[in-house]
Amino acid sequence: MQITIGEAAELCGGKLLCGNPENTITNVCTDSRQAGPGSLFVPLKGERTDAHIFIPAVFAAGAAAAFTQESVELPLEGALIAVPDTADALQQLGAAYRRRFTGPVVGITGSVGKTTTKEMVALALSARYCVMKTQGNQNSQVGVPQTMFQFEEDTEAAVIEMGMSQFGEMARLAKIAAPQFAVMTNIGVSHIENLHTQENIMQEKLHITDGFIPESVLVLNGDDKMLATLRGKMLFNTLFVGTAPWCDYRAVQIESQEGKTYFVMEHESRRLPVVLPVLGTHQVTNALSALAMADVLHVDLQAAAAALATYKPLAMRQQIHKVGGITIIDDSYNASPDAVRGALNVLCSFPHRRVAILGDMLELGRVSHEAHKSCGQYAAKAGVDLLITVGQEAAAITEGAKSENPALPSIHCGDNTEAVQVLKRAIQPDDTILVKGSRGMHMEKVVAFLLKNY
Ligand code: ATP
Ligand code: MG
Repeated sequence: MQITIGEAAELCGGKLLCGNPENTITNVCTDSRQAGPGSLFVPLKGERTDAHIFIPAVFAAGAAAAFTQESVELPLEGALIAVPDTADALQQLGAAYRRRFTGPVVGITGSVGKTTTKEMVALALSARYCVMKTQGNQNSQVGVPQTMFQFEEDTEAAVIEMGMSQFGEMARLAKIAAPQFAVMTNIGVSHIENLHTQENIMQEKLHITDGFIPESVLVLNGDDKMLATLRGKMLFNTLFVGTAPWCDYRAVQIESQEGKTYFVMEHESRRLPVVLPVLGTHQVTNALSALAMADVLHVDLQAAAAALATYKPLAMRQQIHKVGGITIIDDSYNASPDAVRGALNVLCSFPHRRVAILGDMLELGRVSHEAHKSCGQYAAKAGVDLLITVGQEAAAITEGAKSENPALPSIHCGDNTEAVQVLKRAIQPDDTILVKGSRGMHMEKVVAFLLKNY
C-alpha cells in the first residue's frame, strides 16, 4: 500500500520541512539498517539509543523521508517531516494503513499463549484466506503499528498479536489494529506489578473489543477461571472454547501419543477429529480458539483442522529435541506461572526420569515469592523426579517443592553456568529435561549446552 509524503505528514499532524510532498513512500521502518529507496524512517527514542542520530545514514541509503522530533540538519535529497512525537506518529500512521484494509482483522491477546494462538489462528484461516499475521512477537506499542505496514494488495484477513503491560496500552492498540474479532487466551499474573489485580488485567485486555461492530465475535477460553466469569455478561457475541461441558467449542477425548495430541472438537451437532503436532492441554484450547475463529469466518472446519495438523512449534516454545538418548523440552523462550504449570504437565506426560530446570519468572512484583513457591509445589505434585532451579527468585520454587515433598531431589543454582555444571553430573540416559525461564534468564544457553554435549 503506497502513500505520498504529503499524506504521511498530514496523517500524523506533521510539518514537511523539506522535500517533495508528491513523492511516494513504499515502506516504513524504525530500523535504520532496513532503510532504502522509498523508505520512511521513523526514529524512536529508546532507553539506550535515540535513533535520530541515524537520520543522515538513512538519507545516504536513499530513504525517501524521515520523521523527526528534534531539530536536525536538512537532507540534500529526501523529505524531512517534523512531528511532535515520533512514537505517536508511528501509531497514527499504522492506524491509517489499517483503515485502508476492509477485510476481517482478528486480534489476539491474553497473558500467555498469544504468539502460539496467533500462529494457530493464522494457520486455520489460511485454509480459506490469504492471511497477514504479526511477525514473531511484535505485539507492542511499536510492533503493532509496524505490523499494519504489512497489509498487501492480496491480503484477505489479518491476525494481530496484541500485548500490554500498563494501563491504557490495549486501548491504544485497539485504536491502531481495530480488530472486529478477538481471542483472549487467559488471564494470568504477567505484569501484575503494574496492573495490581487480575481483575484489572482482564478489564484492560477487554479493551481489545473497543472497536467492535455488531458482527464482531470475541472468543474466550472457558477453562480460564477469570474469563469464565464473563459468561452471559458481554454485550456482544461471545464464544467460549475449552473442556468444560458448557463451552460452545469443546474438546473431548484428549489423548497424547509420541509428541502429538489427539482430540475431538464438538460444536452443536458437529464432531471433528483434530491432530496437533504439540503436547499439552493448553495447546488444545489454543487450537480450539483457532477452530472457533475459523468457523466464525466461514472457513471449512475440516480444512482448518487439516491446516492445524501442520502446526510447527516456534523456536524455544516447547520444541522437543531427542539427542544422545535424552529428550529435551526447550521452552526457554519465556515463563510465567501458567506457562510453567502447562510445561510441567507436558514434562510429566513423558515416561522415564523427569528433570525440570526452572529459572526465575520475572516481573511478578509482590506476588513473585508466592508464585514461585506455588510452581514448586506444582512441580512436586505433577511428578518431577529432579528439580534444578536457577536465579534469585527461583529459590522459592525449590522451597515450594520441598514443602510439598521433602524427599524430592532439588538443587538451587545461582546462574546458568552453575546449572550446566550440576547437569553434567546429574543427567542420566533416557532423562526427559524441561528447560524454562523468563526471557531475561537466557535459559536457551542451557539448551545449547545440552544440544552440544549429548
Ligand atoms: P509473550 O508475552 O512473550 O508474547 P505469549 O503470550 O505470546 O508470550 P507464547 O509465546 O505463545 O506466549 O507462549 C509462551 C509459553 O507459554 C510457551 O512456553 C508456551 O508453550 C506456553 N503456552 C502457550 N499457550 C499457553 C496457554 N494457553 N496456557 C499456558 N501456557 C501456554
Ligand atoms: Mg508473544
